Amino acid sequence: WAKAEGRGRWAVYDPERSAADIARSALAANLPAALDRGEFVLHYQPIVSLLDGTMVAVEALVRWQHPELGLIGPDRFIGLAEETGLIVRLGAWVLRQACRDAESWRRAYPEARLVVSVNLAARQADDPAIVETVAEALQRTGLPAELLQLELTESAVMGTAGEPLRALHQLADLGIRLAIDDFGTGYSNLAYLRRLPIQCLKLAGPFVEGIRADGADAVADHRDERIVDALVRLAHALELWVTAEAVETEVQAERLRSLRCDTGQGRWFGPPVPAADIRTRLAAAAAPRRDASGDAGLPA
Ligand code: C2E
Ligand code: MG
Ligand code: MG
Ligand code: MG
Repeated sequence: WAKAEGRGRWAVYDPERSAADIARSALAANLPAALDRGEFVLHYQPIVSLLDGTMVAVEALVRWQHPELGLIGPDRFIGLAEETGLIVRLGAWVLRQACRDAESWRRAYPEARLVVSVNLAARQADDPAIVETVAEALQRTGLPAELLQLELTESAVMGTAGEPLRALHQLADLGIRLAIDDFGTGYSNLAYLRRLPIQCLKLAGPFVEGIRADGADAVADHRDERIVDALVRLAHALELWVTAEAVETEVQAERLRSLRCDTGQGRWFGPPVPAADIRTRLAAAAAPRRDASGDAGLPA
């Protein structure tokens, strides 16, 4: 089956098309109107220091609040949005909304210095207007550049010309932070990596998944653990922070900490939640600090 030229138009009946394809194209056709109707929402997942447990950042993860199908995860529509080009407009909305939320957290809890981390699709990173889009999101919301991080996968960083994107340096010049997402699953061109203006590597979930409760078992070969160890050392040699993705258990969090991984993200530290829940978490973290410093709150 073929996508017809033009947005939202699809090829006519084709007996080869499966029901899944039809559902997929119906979903794709509805994306632009869903964006106009404000049906997308952002959830935020805490990124936590493995040293002291403080929430240092949150990752913005988009969901589609579909009127009939309920909450739809990004794995079902980001690919479609990339194919149709809608990702540029959807991504600009995500950026602005994430900056707006982060700025409201900053105003309420400036001492938390909470960073918001936003995913950039390859097609967005390749968009000639990306630097302007990011600069405008910062300017319109008032969020200081250093509180915004952008996540790009290895393939997005490399762009189509096989060269790292020029825009990366312009983005870095804005004062924002750049992270490589799902690190270890793409082509890791180390010659380029060392020259990229990035601050953080996010270790892909599968390596973390390989760290198991039975890791001490003589039968386990510890291969993933040794990969994590090597990647953390590589990152630190390049003076980069490391965030481990998909941390699901206390054992994993403990092992990652002893491997000197800096921060973790995953169900163990908390699932993606609506913006209001992040505010609650910030309030809970701020309360004991204020009590201790004696400048707010009443003594117990
Ligand atoms: P990602 O950037 O690697 O995001 C991490 C994914 O891991 C999220 O899936 C998150 O919900 C999931 N996750 C959280 N905790 C755990 C855990 O303990 N174990 C495991 N196995 N997974 C965990 P989600 O929200 O479904 O997002 C999937 C992907 O969709 C993201 O992967 C990202 O590539 C993409 N995405 C999400 N939001 C956006 C967006 O605004 N723009 C773009 N371009 N892509 C987005
Ligand atoms: Mg990400
Ligand atoms: Mg990731
Ligand atoms: Mg991913």
